[in-house]
Amino acid sequence: MDRKMERTFVAVKPDAVQRGLIGEIIKRFERKGFKIIGLKMMQVDEATAKKHYAEHVGKPFFDNLISFITSGPIVAMVLKGIDVVEQSRHLMGVTDPRQANAGTIRGDYAQIMERNVVHGSDSVESAEREIAIFFEESELATSWHRDTRKWISQSKFENNV
Ligand code: UDP
Ligand code: MG
Repeated sequence: MDRKMERTFVAVKPDAVQRGLIGEIIKRFERKGFKIIGLKMMQVDEATAKKHYAEHVGKPFFDNLISFITSGPIVAMVLKGIDVVEQSRHLMGVTDPRQANAGTIRGDYAQIMERNVVHGSDSVESAEREIAIFFEESELATSWHRDTRKWISQSKFENNV
């Protein structure tokens, strides 16, 4: 199976920040072995929120989603790893926490879709689009290597993880 080195955008949503779950959520991705190359707490303004969730414009939940995501700070992250877009979605669990498997972030920490504690990009294309909304390239730590890489990823990625 082809393995691809990717980046993804993940955010700890305002509900999780309020509930004191920042560390719990970051930990899930960190212990999996993904490399954190961007990390910041920030208050999202309305224009940025609408840009980020542009695909949902016009849907019945859109206005509530925008007011929720701007209701308090988020913790924005860029992760790098093998197939990290899909793998981080697996760690998060499905959108509706009632269907999310136990052991996933949403399965363990959330009860309803409107307060599902974490965001993660759903494709490589949306990941790159979302990273560009929240981070300048200069804010990303792109050149460091996790020394665990040879124990976690294939050797062909050793200089790249
Ligand atoms: N959402 C909602 N009601 C819905 C569908 C989605 O409140 O019926 C929210 C939910 O917080 C979700 C976000 O809108 O995380 C974005 O929806 P999407 O379908 O992109 O889900 P995700 O990619 O976050 O799993
Ligand atoms: Mg989505």
